[in-house]
Amino acid sequence: MIPFLDLKKVNAQYRDELVSAATRVIDSGWYIQGNEVKAFEKEFAAYCGTKHCIGVANGLDALTITLRAWKELGKLKDGDEVIVPANTYIASILAITENRLKPVLVEPDENTFNLCPGKTAAAITPHTKAILAVHLYGQICPMPEIMNLAQQYELLVLEDAAQAHGASIGGRKAGSWGHAAGFSFYPGKNLGALGDAGVVTTNDSELSETIRALGNYGSHKKYENLYQGVNSRLDEIQAAMLRVKLKRLDVEISHRRNLANYYLSNIPSDLVGVPFLINQESHVWHLFTIRYEHRPELQEYLRSKGIETIIHYPKPPHLQQAYNNFNKLSFPITESIHKTILSLPLSPVLSEEECSKVIRVLCDGVAHVNDKN
Ligand SMILES: *Cc1c(COP(=O)(O)O)cnc(C)c1O
Repeated sequence: MIPFLDLKKVNAQYRDELVSAATRVIDSGWYIQGNEVKAFEKEFAAYCGTKHCIGVANGLDALTITLRAWKELGKLKDGDEVIVPANTYIASILAITENRLKPVLVEPDENTFNLCPGKTAAAITPHTKAILAVHLYGQICPMPEIMNLAQQYELLVLEDAAQAHGASIGGRKAGSWGHAAGFSFYPGKNLGALGDAGVVTTNDSELSETIRALGNYGSHKKYENLYQGVNSRLDEIQAAMLRVKLKRLDVEISHRRNLANYYLSNIPSDLVGVPFLINQESHVWHLFTIRYEHRPELQEYLRSKGIETIIHYPKPPHLQQAYNNFNKLSFPITESIHKTILSLPLSPVLSEEECSKVIRVLCDGVAHVNDKN
């Protein structure tokens, strides 16, 4: 059996260090807003190349609270339009609507599945105030072009970097391009905690202070409440886990890149659609997604041969019940991506031999399914 992602094995690599970090926190008697969070914020800001990093409870909160902070600072108001790719994970859209802002769904680039400058520019109206750039599957969006557009139209840019820790353009990392960025450390992400966790990165000191206050009951000073805030904080114990794993992130990314390159050079691209890679540094391969017309049959074939695959994602946000006001909209590129996409096993603990087996079975599966259709 080749699992899609063996999290137990991923964390077992660092078990001793994780245990001693957890022990350190348990024995410290300090569990919220202490030295582990402070140290991790500093280390992750340095990793991304930003001035600030603010711990929050999860990736969705990172996005939601940042937009909320811009509202509190008078940079956004109810009803303002936020451009967002139609094929993103639902969290990106939830962060927008939770703030009573209007998501303007835009088709992605057909190759990269990310926002592209042309379609983004075409969606800008006098009501557009922000762009939510999602680095989907781990490949960074064309940030120089997006930042140029933003400057030209005076828009805020929030990166959804939940899948792209460490991806970069010209050495400049995801999370340092926009006016702010949200990261998730959900256990299955490339940098994963042992529970929920997230951060915002930014170079904007005023924004940073506002986010910190909003995530702590709206309080910038003990028992003084500036805003009607929420409770969204990064736990000491998760920060301690993340400090152990951050030190290994680059090694893990390089393993992911090796496996992805192995897939790319050995999966026959006339059989299935393979991911479009801009260049090595742009992608950290959170997911390796192929496309195939008869996906259900192929997925079942792989399953029957012991290979686990997952669909990211089966249904786009505009077709969800939660957004029934968008159900009548049509996004053909997005809908076709969701119908055909399939994520193959890829992780820091997968071997090239296992990838080779996945490819063998995949080729057999495609031949088998094509025969029947
Ligand atoms: C995981 C993810 C989120 C949300 O992160 P959580 O920590 O699960 O709240 C947001 N956006 C994208 C693109 C994600 O993949």
